[in-house]
Amino acid sequence: MSDATSPTPAETMVLIVGAGPTGLTLACELARKGIPFRLIEAGAGPQPGSRGKGVQPRTLEVFEDLGIIDRVLSHGRMAMPMQSTGPDGAVTLGGAEPESLRNRPDIPYTTSLITPQWRVEQALRSRLAELGGDVEFGTTLERLEQSDDAVSATIVTAGEKATIIARWLVGCDGGHSIVRKQSGIAFEGETREGVRMLVADLAVEGLDRDAWHMWRHPEGAVSLCPLPSTALFQYQASITPGQNAETALENLQAILERRSSRTDIRLNEPEWSTLWRANVRLADRYRAGRVLLAGDAAHVHSPAGGQGMNTGIQDAHNLGWKLAAVAAGAPDALLDSYEAERRPIAADVLEFSDARLAQALEQQGPSTRRDASTIQLDVGYRGSALAQDDRGDAAELHAGDRAPDATRLADADAEHRLFDLTSGGRFTLLDFTGTTTVDAAGSDLRTLHIVEHPTRPDEIADVGGHLAQAYHATPRSLVLIRPDGYIALITDTGDTHAVADYLARIH
Ligand SMILES: Cc1cc2nc3c(=O)[nH]c(=O)nc-3n(C[C@H](O)[C@H](O)[C@H](O)COP(=O)(O)OP(=O)(O)OC[C@H]3O[C@@H](n4cnc5c(N)ncnc54)[C@H](O)[C@@H]3O)c2cc1C
Repeated sequence: MSDATSPTPAETMVLIVGAGPTGLTLACELARKGIPFRLIEAGAGPQPGSRGKGVQPRTLEVFEDLGIIDRVLSHGRMAMPMQSTGPDGAVTLGGAEPESLRNRPDIPYTTSLITPQWRVEQALRSRLAELGGDVEFGTTLERLEQSDDAVSATIVTAGEKATIIARWLVGCDGGHSIVRKQSGIAFEGETREGVRMLVADLAVEGLDRDAWHMWRHPEGAVSLCPLPSTALFQYQASITPGQNAETALENLQAILERRSSRTDIRLNEPEWSTLWRANVRLADRYRAGRVLLAGDAAHVHSPAGGQGMNTGIQDAHNLGWKLAAVAAGAPDALLDSYEAERRPIAADVLEFSDARLAQALEQQGPSTRRDASTIQLDVGYRGSALAQDDRGDAAELHAGDRAPDATRLADADAEHRLFDLTSGGRFTLLDFTGTTTVDAAGSDLRTLHIVEHPTRPDEIADVGGHLAQAYHATPRSLVLIRPDGYIALITDTGDTHAVADYLARIH
């Protein structure tokens, strides 16, 4: 999908800077829509390290939509038990699936998956390759300038400079984003000098791999989390001013022994390590003309609560279909909905992860709580310019909400889940009237007619009644689902013109 190297300046539709989880997700989105792009990455190869090891349920749904859920799940563990030991030796257990989410046909994944971040990136890269795209490793963005029509980017590969002219440039280049700085976008917030964390991937002897082990101590917390699909654990220890912050094995071992009172656990030489510093910052804009920001380039915060990578992936999932639509001729204003929808989510994540961090520091250890706020299933865009419905305020489900899943949907041959039928990045219309046709020329609309006795491929029976229940549907309801799995429009009056007008506006 990437352009072949051509004489300078090369041209492409979208230049993505940075091949972390955010840039890779965006590239997959554009690749599956056939939008020409280039994805450049300063690193010589894939980034090592477990880093964002918690994949939240909403992100798992995104991975299902992208077609990589099986490979991600196969390298991780759902509902990792969390065993937290206090200074008095008292043990608290956590990490179980929340009772309220059990056996829900509308929620396929109810707990986070623990897997090293490099595994997630590996899965995204393999999907990108299947879609015909690739990562240009060892290629650094040095400078960018934009005009009304294009962005001109100076890149450097093995000391050689070249120019890429792109219609759009997306900075997925992490917390130190050069794209953000050169676009004059402020990164408001603060660096909390007093809060740091040692993180390392290492082999451990003398500790079982059945749980994420944490020890709370007046000096600070230390934890060891088994990393599924590897023989390693992720080591984390909070470091306050005056404490030794070296990543050397001797220091990691000494901290573990002091804080856990366990001398029987032996750490091996780290395979990867870092000293993380608390930065809590949010970009004041996500867009400057033809330049957009996503992921850590737009928001950074504490890893407490495990939200950063997830928020970046969901930024890219939100932006991808809009950018593809605009590249294919949709009105440019569609891109403004990206910041309007995603920046408030990041602001909430900053606040939430900060509260989590404070709680963890107060309790001298990470919180073992997992609930709706951490699993990101309540992320939504009610009130967005892209959300339209004719339901009263008291209705439980509105446009802008996450489109719920449903089980037991039967066509003439087999039963399916709704997410099996809606994946792939297209608009889907749920037609509860069973007979409605919407004039949606050029919009790549897929319609599922809900009928009692399906005979055609676009007809399904709601055998368990879960679909009507999840969507609070009547026999006159029409529900339009966006390519990123949020509800675009609901009408309970069978108003086909509303659906056609909506699609015409954004295509
Ligand atoms: C210790 C730790 C624990 C964490 N735990 C969690 C967790 O449990 N859950 C969670 O969701 N998140 C967690 N995170 C956060 C998560 O790792 C990040 O939010 C995530 O990596 C952000 O992804 P990204 O793609 O936006 O940016 P990055 O992963 O930072 O990727 C940016 C890429 O851009 C490249 N780049 C930079 N500048 C240029 C340039 N000029 N030209 C070309 N390429 C460039 C970089 O080399 C890099 O590969 C944790 C982070 C840390 C450090």
